[in-house]
Amino acid sequence: MSRADPVVKLILLGNGSVGKTSIISRFTDDGFAKVYKQTVGLDFFEKLVTLRGEKRAKLQIWDIGGQSIGSKMLGKYVYGSDVVFLCYDVTDEKSFSDVEDWLRMVTTTFETQRDTNGGKKKPPQIYLCGNKIDLEHLRKVREGQHDNFIDDNKLNGGFFTSAQSGDNVTTVFYDAAAKAVGIKLSAYELEFTKKVLAVTVTRDNNNNNSGGGSYNDDQSKQIEEEDMKHGNFQDFLAQAAAEEEKKKKKKKCCIL
Ligand code: GDP
Ligand code: MG
Repeated sequence: MSRADPVVKLILLGNGSVGKTSIISRFTDDGFAKVYKQTVGLDFFEKLVTLRGEKRAKLQIWDIGGQSIGSKMLGKYVYGSDVVFLCYDVTDEKSFSDVEDWLRMVTTTFETQRDTNGGKKKPPQIYLCGNKIDLEHLRKVREGQHDNFIDDNKLNGGFFTSAQSGDNVTTVFYDAAAKAVGIKLSAYELEFTKKVLAVTVTRDNNNNNSGGGSYNDDQSKQIEEEDMKHGNFQDFLAQAAAEEEKKKKKKKCCIL
């Protein structure tokens, strides 16, 4: 694993029961090797993802467990994040109205916290995630309310997911990871992220409780080996990028 691969830390926030853990499980089970670590009240999953050609990112996904908005520990982890998914349940109005508090918690954290050297960190990219869209008949929060929240609070974007059916789950993680490292994936590439193959799951039994995202050499090797099995996926992305490039060139020809 190259040290140059950027690390993208993504944290899922939101009320209990909105489906945060289920979303993560769906993503990790749908074709992701995972190193599972239990920290104090937070779990994180880590995976090297190939975004395009040689470009990769190490995606760390943090699950806050049952922690409440006021937890000091939570503030510390939020401050370390590059991407935040503000999650609510589309069948539960309260979980949607409480998203405002979660957002405030994130913005306050970034306004008040400082690095050890006194510097200030760049705020994370924030997305609104409406989960449980499979329960359409029970839906309480309308798409318009969802969109207005994104606009009013100038979030980076938003989406709807179903951890139950798997709808949209893989795509939103890929998309957010890519954007966090400055790559925009084409619709074609995003479509392919839905078809990532299943790989074996690794459980980290040597839990060192570091909480800082470190991993030992054996774990790194295993992640890398599992990535290698995705040769087809890498080829596919390279091919998709080449086709896009060809299309662009063709368009230019026509203009000239
Ligand atoms: P968390 O507290 O936010 O981590 O929520 P969980 O992931 O533990 O999910 C809470 C409950 O909602 C569980 O019973 C899940 O099975 C259920 N759940 C989570 N996501 C979905 C979804 O997309 N659709 C449906 N129908 N149920 C879901
Ligand atoms: Mg949970």
